[in-house]
Amino acid sequence: MKFTIDHFNINVLDLDKSLAFYDKALGLKEARRKKAYDGSFIIVYLEDGISTNKLELTWLKSRTTPYDLGDEEFHIAFKTNDFDVAHAHHKQMGCICYETRRWASISSVIRTDTGWKSYPTDECLFSDTSSGTLTSLMFIPTTMAEVTALGWDRLDIVLVTGDTYIDSPFMGVSLIGKILLKDGFRVGIIAQPALDTPEDILRLGTPALFWGVTGGAVDSMVANYTPLKKRRKTDDYTPGYVNNRRPDRAVIAYANLIRRFCKPTPPIVLGGIEASLRRTAHYDFWSNKIRRSILFDAKGDFLVFGMGHIPIRLLAKALKNKKTIEDIAGIAYIAQTKKGLALPSFETITKSQKAYVQAFHTFYQNTDPLTAQGLCQAHNDRYLILNPPAPASTTPDMDEIHDLAYEHDVHPFYKAMGPVRALDTIRFAIPTHYGCYGECRFCAITIHQGRTVQCRSMDSIVRQAKQFTTYPDFKGNIMDLGGPTANMYGFECQKKITKGACQDKGCLFPVPCSALRPNHSQYLDLLKRLGGLAGIKKVFITSGIRYDLILKDKRHGMAFLEKLVKDHVSGQLKSHRNIVSHMFLTTWANRPWMT
Ligand code: SF4
Repeated sequence: MKFTIDHFNINVLDLDKSLAFYDKALGLKEARRKKAYDGSFIIVYLEDGISTNKLELTWLKSRTTPYDLGDEEFHIAFKTNDFDVAHAHHKQMGCICYETRRWASISSVIRTDTGWKSYPTDECLFSDTSSGTLTSLMFIPTTMAEVTALGWDRLDIVLVTGDTYIDSPFMGVSLIGKILLKDGFRVGIIAQPALDTPEDILRLGTPALFWGVTGGAVDSMVANYTPLKKRRKTDDYTPGYVNNRRPDRAVIAYANLIRRFCKPTPPIVLGGIEASLRRTAHYDFWSNKIRRSILFDAKGDFLVFGMGHIPIRLLAKALKNKKTIEDIAGIAYIAQTKKGLALPSFETITKSQKAYVQAFHTFYQNTDPLTAQGLCQAHNDRYLILNPPAPASTTPDMDEIHDLAYEHDVHPFYKAMGPVRALDTIRFAIPTHYGCYGECRFCAITIHQGRTVQCRSMDSIVRQAKQFTTYPDFKGNIMDLGGPTANMYGFECQKKITKGACQDKGCLFPVPCSALRPNHSQYLDLLKRLGGLAGIKKVFITSGIRYDLILKDKRHGMAFLEKLVKDHVSGQLKSHRNIVSHMFLTTWANRPWMT
């Protein structure tokens, strides 16, 4: 059993003034900062750049008067490599005066030999470093202990996911949870609940407003089976890598689970890629059948389709204020009467391939937020109502959701269950944009994220990179800087963003549209800015590259290619097209090679 001093805390009244003071007087620099969702506190860790000890400054919004020499708001935090032994040791000494289990880690306050009562500022905290940090304030709660620690008696929204809970902007459930927290809702996450018991699903109680259900970052059938329909043994989003916690058709399974054990239940809202891609009646490869909209099969109340961060905020506010939900863009629901442009019914498309194609064509023609009409599709005597998609995100929208505080780690509750392989790829990767206009026929991105590329600002991306440099295990390598197609960052067709995407032609197929003017200058600038940051050694681009865009960009294309190949390839360059079969490429709406 060993103890090391981790940090010393002092409370401050004017954070900016204190930061300036410690920098000027002692050369201490900000290493990391944590903010409360409700703005009630900010914690900043300062480092001297040499030792591992930190000075923690805590700012409390409620404090309005100056502290008198700290006003007993000091603590010293120690880390130990064996919490249980340390705990027993202190217990035997009789010096533990307060214990808490917070955010799935354990801390104890021990008094020093000067005595707890008379010298309360002598308190020491020590934490179990094997199960998490002392105060992991940025995770969304997944246990009642965390909910209670936040002073909440009940949650407004519980999100249920087929992945483990990784707190990262790459994980939709985490991003949606964070944006709802920012809006003032009390949110919790239940990841990969067991299906045969109420224990997991009701761990956080019944939410006051709604359940949000997602199959995870990948459709559960794709996660569970190979294209040859063999069961996959491993799962990158499950602790321990073993594929044993994600049910088939997870959205339906979790909605059933909620209804079975939670009676009465608040509304069940479906979301994520599994629900989004199955929002209308659709062909299901796994059963080789046409299936109904997942909203009917899961008996959900609402379905949020697309990236979801805009409609879910409106939906949550509407439910809270008991306002109309039926007009929110980007949601679907079931009604007794039709509304909007009618697609051929579920029953019709099960009998006629022609009707199926017509239904999909009309659906696809109505996926651009600027031009789409609302749709409906009869399922027996009821109707699926599909509102037009939510508007494309602006750059401030994108910055807002990515600038939220993320841990870029697995929640300690789930981390204790084993390593999560997906973290290797996403922990130190940076998403730059959503959307893709490649429209490859095998790909789901256009239907889910949209055909309009929606970018973060360079400043927001640089902020995230700088944050990585404060993590002790960051080795200086950003593992990816990209989006669905990496080199779509930073430019779009002006016609598309003002009037909507063309319905009679593709942006890149059969040939790149003359109105599209690829321009790699912003991506190049971004790479240069990141490469110049202290603490960044390498920025890899592991998202796919479209080389037809490079060829079309006469001003910057070759400069980008040269920089990409020289500085940003890790192992293998991921080209968008990795086969040369003319037949396959044209069937997939990709141009043949060398054209
Ligand atoms: S004008 Fe060309 S690039 Fe723009 S949306 Fe239409 S097809 Fe795409």
